[in-house]
Amino acid sequence: MIRSAILLAFAATSTLAAAAPAATSLSTIAERSGFQNTGRYDEVVDLCARFQKAYPKQVRCFEFGRTPEGRPMLALAVSRTGALTAEQAKKRGLPVMLVQGGIHAGEIDGKDAGFLALREALENKAAPGALDKQVLLFVPVFNVDGHERFGKWNRPNQRGPVEMGWRTTAQNYNLNRDYVKADAPEMQSMLALVNAWDPLAYIDLHVTDGAKFQPDVSIQVEPVHGGDEELKRAGAALQTAVMADLKAQGSDPKPYYISFAADDDPTSGFVDSMATPRFSTGYFPMRNRFAMLVETHSWKDYPTRVRITRNTIVSLLSQVAAHGKEWQKMTQEADARATAMAGADFPISYRTTFNAKTIEFPGYEYTRGYSEVSGGLMTHYDESKPQMWSVPLRDEVVPDLKIAAPKGGYLVPLADAARIGAKLKQHGIAFKVLASDQMAAEVETFRATKTKFGAQSFEGHQSLAVEGDWGRERRSLAKGALFVPIAQPKARLVMTMLEPRGADSLLAWGEFNNAFERKEYMEEYVAEDVARAQLEADPALREEFQKKLDSDAEFNKSQAKRLEFFARRHASWDERYNLYPVMRTAQKF
Ligand SMILES: [Zn+2]
Repeated sequence: MIRSAILLAFAATSTLAAAAPAATSLSTIAERSGFQNTGRYDEVVDLCARFQKAYPKQVRCFEFGRTPEGRPMLALAVSRTGALTAEQAKKRGLPVMLVQGGIHAGEIDGKDAGFLALREALENKAAPGALDKQVLLFVPVFNVDGHERFGKWNRPNQRGPVEMGWRTTAQNYNLNRDYVKADAPEMQSMLALVNAWDPLAYIDLHVTDGAKFQPDVSIQVEPVHGGDEELKRAGAALQTAVMADLKAQGSDPKPYYISFAADDDPTSGFVDSMATPRFSTGYFPMRNRFAMLVETHSWKDYPTRVRITRNTIVSLLSQVAAHGKEWQKMTQEADARATAMAGADFPISYRTTFNAKTIEFPGYEYTRGYSEVSGGLMTHYDESKPQMWSVPLRDEVVPDLKIAAPKGGYLVPLADAARIGAKLKQHGIAFKVLASDQMAAEVETFRATKTKFGAQSFEGHQSLAVEGDWGRERRSLAKGALFVPIAQPKARLVMTMLEPRGADSLLAWGEFNNAFERKEYMEEYVAEDVARAQLEADPALREEFQKKLDSDAEFNKSQAKRLEFFARRHASWDERYNLYPVMRTAQKF
């Protein structure tokens, strides 16, 4: 609130605000340049305040976070209902749509298109009446620091604007991989905004990379392939409706991500998939909410791309106005179903089947030939010669690994409670702190039978993939451990974060790597003695060892593995080695 007042004061004293006529004072540098250029972030600060000043009853400009380089992260709450705070929106049961631009700051169409759509909607020139029935939360630029790393060649595969921002944040995080792990302060601020407003739909505005072809935009929505079964129907309806609106305005939208199955090879066609929860379209279905990924085609010029993105936002405003209440009811029902998920199978991953259909895809004539530069094949497109491609499309997506939800929930031991508790809080996940010690409690534990660490750093993490399954045992827990109940609306997100085999689980991102490192060793000459003593004492073990030598060539060849066979049976063996610290329980605390 205080921040808004400061911004307002800033706008009032700026000479531009005083001199410019009302209509143009809400236009962007992009618009005034015929969409050749885009403004710097100070324009967003300025426009945010101007919109509030021009429409004090319909617009509230506010700061929801600070970037690592100290810039304000701004949002505009826009509605004709009078509800301009999260509390009012919740109290009045109004659907909230969050439209976010510039998560990749070089793909900045969303910022300029959003301000344009906003002005037209406020003037009732676009989506008339839509703002009477919803709250639009517009974040013009998510990656603010990246936006200010401004330059001419930040997007070498993109036509305009002349200069633009950079893909990653000042800390070099790709925010578009960060929804679950939430490393970046920017993402943590976004999650806090989402927790406060609980948007029905989250719209993520991008520009694609990739080949040259005719279609100008892709519209992907979830739940469609994954998430709550009932919500999938509404998700598909939203996707179909927005695509129909765009088609009526001359676009050729596609419902899948338009990148070739094999890099640089147009004949390989396309493969649709369910995004993992590191992406918005994978994350929001885990909260039983809708997400839409809009990717305008990078080789369309900036005026064209902004127009398409603006058309998409306008269509969404109309869709939410028409169906928002009904979809809101559906998400509440999905929340109730998720809360009752205990014991039910939950798909932790999805896969695209090999069922392919042949589609006619409007491309361009192209040649592929030997390149003396790269020494490999190179593709050259001729954009003056449209050509229909008959290519395969695989778009049948099915659940892959299904895991039964715990009957009670997850237990996070005291040693990990502080850091994991903080992460759960960022997502608004409910948990309890155990008030007393639990002695020899019946729990499920996950002892990895196989582990594979990532060979290289990814987003500053070393990943870990584990094999194995949950098994019953008794373990003690100290008071202060966390109980994360499965009986909560965000049950899907709980499982996404805490099931060790999930692609974006905290374990997969390397948050528990320490538990999978061997820390104490037996000297080889000691291990020899231990092995001989065990062989001497137990003929059955001798037989088992011999069987392993005969059947497992890798084992037979490895001195270390042969000695470990016996060390594992010795009292000195670390029983916590490869034990995932998080447990499951059937109990409700
Ligand atoms: Zn992008």
